Amino acid sequence: MSTSQGAFGWWRRIALWKKILAGLALGILAGALLGENASVFKPLGDIFINAIMMLIVPLVFSTLVVGITSMRDPQKMGRIGARTIALYLLTTAFAISIGLLLSTLLQPGAGVDISFDGSVDASEAPTLASILIDLVPRNPIDALANGNILQIIVFAIGLGISLTLVGEKGEPLVILFDSFAEAMYKLTGIVMAFAPFGVFGLIAHVSGQYGLEILLPLAKLIGVVYLASALHVLVVYSGFISLLGRLNPVRYLQGSLDAMMIAFSSASSAGSLPVSIRCAQQNLGVSEGVSGFVLPVGATINMDGTALYQGVVVLFIAQMLGIELTLVDYGMIVVTGTLASIGTAGVPGAGLIMLSIVMAQIGLPLEAIAVVAGIDRILDMARTSVNVAGDIMVTTLVGKSEGELNLDIYNADNKA
Ligand code: ASP
Repeated sequence: MSTSQGAFGWWRRIALWKKILAGLALGILAGALLGENASVFKPLGDIFINAIMMLIVPLVFSTLVVGITSMRDPQKMGRIGARTIALYLLTTAFAISIGLLLSTLLQPGAGVDISFDGSVDASEAPTLASILIDLVPRNPIDALANGNILQIIVFAIGLGISLTLVGEKGEPLVILFDSFAEAMYKLTGIVMAFAPFGVFGLIAHVSGQYGLEILLPLAKLIGVVYLASALHVLVVYSGFISLLGRLNPVRYLQGSLDAMMIAFSSASSAGSLPVSIRCAQQNLGVSEGVSGFVLPVGATINMDGTALYQGVVVLFIAQMLGIELTLVDYGMIVVTGTLASIGTAGVPGAGLIMLSIVMAQIGLPLEAIAVVAGIDRILDMARTSVNVAGDIMVTTLVGKSEGELNLDIYNADNKA
């Protein structure tokens, strides 16, 4: 035992983000060198994704029940909910505007001539009533079994409040959930030790599939989406953190890095949720109650990267087809794009499907979506990283405003 610890001691001493970054870089290299043969490494990625998906339901459920029982203040819970939703909507509107602005300035679609055919069905936007009705689970076991995060949140809040109200008799269950949550944090740590290899497998497979001949014709579009994503994280999120939160934005960026890299390689913000929770609690010092509520809600409804991408791509297609958009169209894109992003599931490729809602709204031909479909994964990696960074940003701000942020942990420079 002691020899194996000694043998791997050097590996353990390297910070996790560095190892994940190395996995990412080596994955890109392996894909470039081996082409489609790099898919032999894909099982490594699939095992890792399965392992983090395995954590989501038990982790979210136990964290939130424990978090709610520790807060004991219904007014505070209401405030946290209201602030969370307001910040999520505000940042999404910023995101889509940045996408529209850059796409208008840089004109990624001008002069692009790619033919497309086939047909695409427009997705239906869910109605507000159906969203509200679906929040309440008829059967919580069913919600847990199907991983319906919003329904799990509603049940966990209900259970947490009830446990607080029953007082002493509720104590054993609180202790049980507390120890279950601790075990889930531990398990997340164990799964994360495998992250560098999982990320390597995922990226090797993706990068092996895309040759330059697929990427080059759309290089400008890819460039604009990545630039807009970088600006949104580095300027808007950092700005919110320093101006609204009066916190050092570098610490926020450092602390979110693990989750952003997992989001980048998995293209799933729901799948990245256990890592986001870990980053928010361990690296940034956000309490269980706030991170256990704000992050799962964000992974389900807050998709800034998706909104930004929709803004860029809709303008790209209009430019490619030589269609002039009016100011009303722009306004429509902001509204429908925000709604469509809320309805987007945190899984790979979901944003591409929701794009049809925005396209249909302003009367662009849906078949044109085929032009971007071939490279969507590359865009998905950027937008998912933004989605996750946005969730962690709002979690940090809400934590700060409610006195639920441990500043010693936040300001520590040794992030995991
Ligand atoms: N893949 C994104 C996510 O999981 C959603 C999207 O496709 O835009 O956050």
